[in-house]
This record gives sequence, C-alpha cells and structure tokens, in this order.
Amino acid sequence: MDEQVKKMVDEGIMLPLMEDFYTIQGEGYHKGTAAYFIRVGGCDVGCHWCDVKESWNAAIHPPTHIDNIVKNAEKYSKTIVITGGEPLTWDMNPLTSLLKEKNFQIHIETSGAYKLTGKWDWICLSPKKIKLPEQEIYSVANELKMIIYNMDDFRFAEEQALKVNQNCKLYLQPEWSKREKMIPVIVDYIMKNPKWKVSLQTHKYLNIP
Ligand code: SF4
Repeated sequence: MDEQVKKMVDEGIMLPLMEDFYTIQGEGYHKGTAAYFIRVGGCDVGCHWCDVKESWNAAIHPPTHIDNIVKNAEKYSKTIVITGGEPLTWDMNPLTSLLKEKNFQIHIETSGAYKLTGKWDWICLSPKKIKLPEQEIYSVANELKMIIYNMDDFRFAEEQALKVNQNCKLYLQPEWSKREKMIPVIVDYIMKNPKWKVSLQTHKYLNIP
C-alpha cells in the first residue's frame, strides 16, 4: 500500500470499505429499522462460525476516503450502522465526527475487542470468548448481543451481563447454522431468565443483506 494511503488509513481518514448498502437492520434492539450499512474490512478475532469471513483480510478491501463513504450514505438513510469485520480495528473518530456534523444517527456493531473510538448514538456489543472486550465499553454499551452456538454460551452470556451497565438491553441470538437446535433452548432459557430477550437474524429470513 502507498505510504500516503497507509497513513490516511492509520488516521481513520480512509477505511478499507468492504461494502455499503441500504437495507433493514435485522437484529437486536433496532430490528426492522431501515438503515445504511457501512461494512469495514479487517477483523482478527477469528470466530469459527463467522458469517462474514471475507471481511477478515483488510488488504483486499479498497481504502476509501470517508468523504466518499458519507456522500454515498447521504443518498439513503439518516440511520447508519457501522459493522465489519471489527470496525474498532480502525480509528472511528474521523468518520463518526463527519456523520455527526450531518446529523446522522450512528450505530456500531462491535465485539469490543479494541479501544473504543468514535461518537455513537447506539453501541451494540457482541463479546467473543476468544478475544474479550476492552473494559471501558461495558459502561457505555446500549445493547449486549450474545451469540448462542452451544450450551456454554449461556454461561458466557451471564458472565458478560454482569459487566454491562444497568440500562443495557440484553439479547440472546442463535448462531445461524445452529438455529434449529438452539432456538427451543433459548426460548426455554429466556422464559426462565426474563431479563434476556430473543434476537433473530430476521434479514436472513427476509432474504435481504
Ligand atoms: Fe466475524 Fe465478528 Fe467474530 Fe470478527 S468478531 S470473526 S467479524 S463474527
């Protein structure tokens, strides 16, 4: 990569953009809300069940100036979801400051594995066992979304729920490939532990990105 481009990526002025698209948020608290998704490449958390493994290698996604990312977003929605990959791999301050100047509502989907940067209206924290969140994010997360792949994930979910702030919404979401097996278990668990709510990947049922 050109030195100048690398510097701009390091500063968050350019970001490795995998894709951006207008759709409906399928998961969690804002499910059903039309939103413009900005999917940033780069993640080294390494979840074996990850459904966007193509995002992992940042080098294959073109460094894109944040001015162009915001220009595209302006054509669509005032609600933006920044996802990945792991968006906090990068400095999110420049992109989110620019979006804030233009009065966007900005949401992030993150594992929290890296330092929190950026200005957010909604933080969806989805911790992963293999690379735990940085401590600071628990106090500001608006939503804790725990992916349930196997029975031990309920234990992990409870452990993480003890760390978030008291206003944080709690969701259990079946990992897509295990949904048939885990949905009845999650339903039963939530009826016994009603502080949790169920989250489904409704965009996959709706056949939208
Ligand atoms: Fe995939 Fe997200 Fe896990 Fe990264 S943190 S490997 S993008 S599921």
